[in-house]
Amino acid sequence: MAVKGKISRNKKRKLPTKNDFGFFEVRMESIGGLGANVAGKILGEAVVFGMGFNASSFASYGSEKKGTPVKAFVRIADPKTEIRANSPIEEPHVLAIFHESMVRTLPVTAGLLPDGAVILNTKKSAEEARDFMKIASGTVGAIDATEIAIQTKSRVNMVLLGAVARASKFIELGAIKKAVKAAFGAKYPSAMPGNLAALERGFTEVELKNFKADGKFKHVPFMRTLPEFGYENAPMGGTIYAVGNTAVKDLSASRVGFIPRFIIENCTKCGECDIFCPDYCYVWEKGIDPKTGREGMLLLGIDYQYCKGCLRCTKACRFGAIETVKESDYNIDEIIVKHKFSR
Ligand code: SF4
Ligand code: SF4
Repeated sequence: MAVKGKISRNKKRKLPTKNDFGFFEVRMESIGGLGANVAGKILGEAVVFGMGFNASSFASYGSEKKGTPVKAFVRIADPKTEIRANSPIEEPHVLAIFHESMVRTLPVTAGLLPDGAVILNTKKSAEEARDFMKIASGTVGAIDATEIAIQTKSRVNMVLLGAVARASKFIELGAIKKAVKAAFGAKYPSAMPGNLAALERGFTEVELKNFKADGKFKHVPFMRTLPEFGYENAPMGGTIYAVGNTAVKDLSASRVGFIPRFIIENCTKCGECDIFCPDYCYVWEKGIDPKTGREGMLLLGIDYQYCKGCLRCTKACRFGAIETVKESDYNIDEIIVKHKFSR
């Protein structure tokens, strides 16, 4: 994906703020499938080709599969400053979080500069988002990027790119639009109106609010998440001491805005969904079927703690007992049916 055309040669471009190395840095925290990697590349190309800055963009994604954590980094410098650093961005000026659930499971806000800006994809207000993320100070931006992406038939990454541009206070929306057209215009022309509308709405609709360091929350310095076990302390032979440890596993951060919804009235208890679900999310219990009065296994619902949102089960059910719905329209705590594990 390369932007064709001349680089804007405006040598007078100056970053509004920079770190000790002369960089303005953006970090995007996402999960595979939401487009953070592409968003980082587009942002890097926009500031270089459209605005004349120097920039480098790169991403870090472990096993490269849908649903796993992804980080995208964009390092921007004045035209005369060379970028020779390729290390991950630890203290970003702007941080974009593509999925709200990541805040609960990973230290995604760690390292944000005290006067930095964090954008969260959420239905919450900026005030609520600050409390949810426990941000000590700086700018908090809230935008329902998932809903806008659905409405514009675009992607979450386009909405958040617009919001990042606005929070940066210097990245021009026009430069990003140009980079998006160069990247996708020829390949996916029918997607362009939606992408440009999503960008525009991200820029104009993000709610930005400044918070002073009022002592409500503490600044969290950057921390590297290290695996609990390494070559020095891993049990011999990789033995798992805590058997059945999926009891503490939470896959909710892997979902990308949609969940399966179980409609018990339509269920014939055929069991197809259970066969299709790779994570055993469907909860069955022995009981009396209210329709027939006979004893048997009854399907009670879905344990969303283990549901990664792959939606395979929705395709498996032939009886209209599982529908695809927007996660944000439901309170998971109200519709979850928990597994009862014997200890
Ligand atoms: S596939 Fe549909 S009808 Fe069959 S058990 Fe699952 S939800 Fe019920
Ligand atoms: S979407 Fe359906 S198949 Fe996929 S993990 Fe969730 S319950 Fe299982």
